Amino acid sequence: MTIKTPAEQNLLQRIASTKKTAWSPVVEKSTGSVLTSKFSGIPLLDKNEHWPRCGHCQKEMQLFLQLNSGELPQEARQVFGSGILQVFYCINDEQECEIECEAYFPFAKSTLLRILNPANIVTKTLQVSPVADAFEEKVIVAWQASDDYPNSEELEELGIQLDEAEAEQLYEQNYPKVGDKLLGWPAWVQGIEYPQCPDCGDNMKYIFQIDSEDNLDYMFGDTGCAHITQCEKHPDRLTIAWACF
Ligand SMILES: [Zn+2]
Ligand SMILES: [Zn+2]
Repeated sequence: MTIKTPAEQNLLQRIASTKKTAWSPVVEKSTGSVLTSKFSGIPLLDKNEHWPRCGHCQKEMQLFLQLNSGELPQEARQVFGSGILQVFYCINDEQECEIECEAYFPFAKSTLLRILNPANIVTKTLQVSPVADAFEEKVIVAWQASDDYPNSEELEELGIQLDEAEAEQLYEQNYPKVGDKLLGWPAWVQGIEYPQCPDCGDNMKYIFQIDSEDNLDYMFGDTGCAHITQCEKHPDRLTIAWACF
């Protein structure tokens, strides 16, 4: 770890009230159970359902992420409620689902996010993923905690005004952290973009960041960054959206 200069320490002290913990997934290339937390691979599916298909091309969507709440860090265990959170996303290039469905905006029909209760599921057994060019499976075997801080624009909304040099300093220290992570603060590429819940209009709560070409061999536009959010009042309202430069 690099030693922080006095100026950096001063800055972090000034914004200490906004400090949150971000957890980076530690992964292993292996085949995990359908109940485990992972990127890609075979998710938990009910015996009587099809693998979720894209609302545009009707093909099976990539499993971007599955999180089992029981495997999350203790402090973050209730982040989305309890059960298995799944994120499906269509990357079918030939039919340009991402563009046609404007999947950078929330609630695109080429995506599906849901929370399953394993107790209510009769598990479907699949040997092979039906997804065309499925990503390599990476099982999340641990979580690495680190401090995280919001970007200068978000700090300003929280009543802390940074000058240009301080904003630069924050960015250079990699706050908010880039890469895949659970919680912490979103590394917004454009402005602050918490989606609004279609039911109540409230800003949705940030849960997980999927960055370009970190654990998934995928790029959102031009090195964009995606965020998974959920309405606190309507936990079934979950979405993924992204922005790039
Ligand atoms: Zn599609
Ligand atoms: Zn809501």
